[in-house]
Amino acid sequence: MKYLSSLKDKNLSKQICLLRLDFNITNADLRGYQRGFIPRINLCGGLTRKTPLRLQSVLPTIKFLIERGAKVMILSHRGRPKIKSKIPACAKASAGRKNQKSKIQFKIQNDLSLKPFVKILSKLLKKPIHFITLKELGLINKTREKIKNSPAGSVFVLENLRLMAGEEKNNKKFAKQLASLGNLYINDAFSVSHRKNASVVAITEFLSSYAGLLLEEEIKNLSRAMKNPKKPLVIIVGGAKISDKIGAIKNFLKRANYILIGGGIANTFFAAQKLSIGKSLYEKEMIPTVKKLLKSRKIILPIDLAIKKRKILDIGLETAKKYAEIIEKAKTIIWNGPMGYIEDKRFAKGTEAIAQAIIKSQAFSIVGGGETTSIMSKVAFAKQIPGGSCQKSKVFISSGGGAMLEYLAGKKLPGLKTLNNI
Ligand code: ADP
Ligand code: MG
Repeated sequence: MKYLSSLKDKNLSKQICLLRLDFNITNADLRGYQRGFIPRINLCGGLTRKTPLRLQSVLPTIKFLIERGAKVMILSHRGRPKIKSKIPACAKASAGRKNQKSKIQFKIQNDLSLKPFVKILSKLLKKPIHFITLKELGLINKTREKIKNSPAGSVFVLENLRLMAGEEKNNKKFAKQLASLGNLYINDAFSVSHRKNASVVAITEFLSSYAGLLLEEEIKNLSRAMKNPKKPLVIIVGGAKISDKIGAIKNFLKRANYILIGGGIANTFFAAQKLSIGKSLYEKEMIPTVKKLLKSRKIILPIDLAIKKRKILDIGLETAKKYAEIIEKAKTIIWNGPMGYIEDKRFAKGTEAIAQAIIKSQAFSIVGGGETTSIMSKVAFAKQIPGGSCQKSKVFISSGGGAMLEYLAGKKLPGLKTLNNI
């Protein structure tokens, strides 16, 4: 693996760096930013309530590049545009608005455009940022010249990659076209590194490729928990579906000391034990797999529950207490997935209790997953943890949900495998 940090003493003024980031933040977060909200940078690595970690945590890589004189072209996706199959190639993407169909296409495109990031990033980086539209990407020679002729340290943002059909198909031709805009590729989007997309995988065939500063942090922290973790190693798994997490659970069955189960996942275990779960969320097809897991004494299930209208919606107080005691003794913790239906405050208590126990613990902890990290941030913020003590609690907030689970399942992520290609 080649790390961008290894270029720290280099002058990069001759480089045009294509930097793959993940700007896939929610519309709510985006609106907050557009209202002029300037994020707080704290010492906890982004544990502030309103800061979308995704954005905050990639600033060091952008700054690293511009401070060394490089020109930066940011590549990212946002959302899941439904129109992608109708757009054959990037050059055609901005074609005529003549018929109704193309009007609809443009509406969806605007919703998911990366254009708002121009303003947001220029505030954060205190410099003008340029936007490259799909039409400009179509006129690739002209755009290449524009980037080449820009001053050192210029930053460009390319329109949402998923608006181009080649991206999710890992299309080589499209990747080559993208690659022709620069001479160096940097992946700082761990959260998409499990996806075989053109801007993550195919592009590395055409450019010398490096892992960015955030990706380096991810790899170092996750591999620290995977290889020779300090024991006791406690895994906490919750969330909606066990099918998403089974790979990671199986991979840790031997190495972990305890696997604490909560959320909808626990319901599938109860169903496998033939306990009545009423109308609770569970996965029927996973019962045979779960039955095998039940043979392990490392699997710890809730001992009491919060129930409403025949639905199990959270772990109970006794369970939260029991789990917190195990967490207190842990030296390494990995947590993914809430303990209950956190969208309703009344059923977020179990999850909050776990977050508090982890913050209190002295263990090296990794927390990942969209909902899980958002609760973790809220709890950390509510407790007003000053930077120092937060650092002591050694919590690493992973930027990857699915990517983190695949990594922890022992899979080789396609976007990481290719970073030593050229
Ligand atoms: P993450 O985004 O942190 O990876 P998941 O996406 O796996 O987590 O799961 C989060 C979702 O699981 C939340 O929307 C939450 O409401 C749901 N969930 C957890 N436990 C339950 C439960 N007992 N009943 C219904 N939904 C649940
Ligand atoms: Mg989720």
